[in-house]
Amino acid sequence: MSKHHRQRDWAPAPPALPTGVHAVDNHTHLASVPPFAAEMDRQARARGQQPVPVYAVEQLIEQAQEVGIEGFVDVGCELPSLETAVRLAEQHPGTVWAALAIHPNEAVLHGHRGVPGPDGLPVRYQPWHEQSFDQAFERVVNLASSHTQEVVAIGETGMDLFRTGQAAEDIQRQAFRNHIALAKELNLPLQIHDRDAHQQVIETLLADGAPERTVFHSYSGDAAMAQVAAEHGWYLSFSGTVSYKGNEGIRQALNIVGLDHVMVETDAPYLTPMPYRGRTNAPYMIPYTLRAMAEALELSIQQVAEATRNTTQVVYGI
Ligand SMILES: [Zn+2]
Repeated sequence: MSKHHRQRDWAPAPPALPTGVHAVDNHTHLASVPPFAAEMDRQARARGQQPVPVYAVEQLIEQAQEVGIEGFVDVGCELPSLETAVRLAEQHPGTVWAALAIHPNEAVLHGHRGVPGPDGLPVRYQPWHEQSFDQAFERVVNLASSHTQEVVAIGETGMDLFRTGQAAEDIQRQAFRNHIALAKELNLPLQIHDRDAHQQVIETLLADGAPERTVFHSYSGDAAMAQVAAEHGWYLSFSGTVSYKGNEGIRQALNIVGLDHVMVETDAPYLTPMPYRGRTNAPYMIPYTLRAMAEALELSIQQVAEATRNTTQVVYGI
């Protein structure tokens, strides 16, 4: 077995949450978690499709349930993964729900508008990017409107200005505004992706009027931004990044916003919590992130898990 292969093994499971204590992973990408999904996904993308790796997802759910994670909001934020997320929710009622959007880094690729690609990387168009942003967004509108049991949020949307130019910023802002309007129209919570765009995201939310339930997914701001969030009643969802050494600002934010506005997520397969940063992330890793949150808050893991569980109920009704 090659060294590369070994690195893709699962990190050990954390201790289960105490009996009777549960948490929900309110932002994850189940169909993208390797090693199960990666190869199927790669092959499907080469064909311009994306199948649901059902067997893989069953395993991910069971693995997470064993440590007390009882629910999952699966985020479909590329055109082919919108239907995947809805289908997963249909297949696992009461366990998986969907959040739908066209990701800001996808918004700039649709219709081949000639702006720099995601994160300023060379543009790599996929077959579905031939459709215009308006066509892709229409799919979000239709699925969210017609699957009200399964779709519990609009997201992830927002802005990502990491190494991006003005043209991409304008496209992202407009796409973000479309999603804000849709969340309000459907009375759904909004999940925000904000990378190096704190000021632009806040300005846009305030200019258009934020949805009643607005969630900063994988919160990456500092204490000052958390004050703004607290002032407006916005919610912060914490990922594995809350456990990283340099992220004191994120831990301060956790203390500012109030336990009734705090949730937990993996953003799997990305952002694996310590001590397994760099390994594959999956929903069963949530207790590691809860432990880091509990340490920052000087509370028990049980108190933090229960608080995030209650907040998830208030925000998504699940
Ligand atoms: Zn995500």
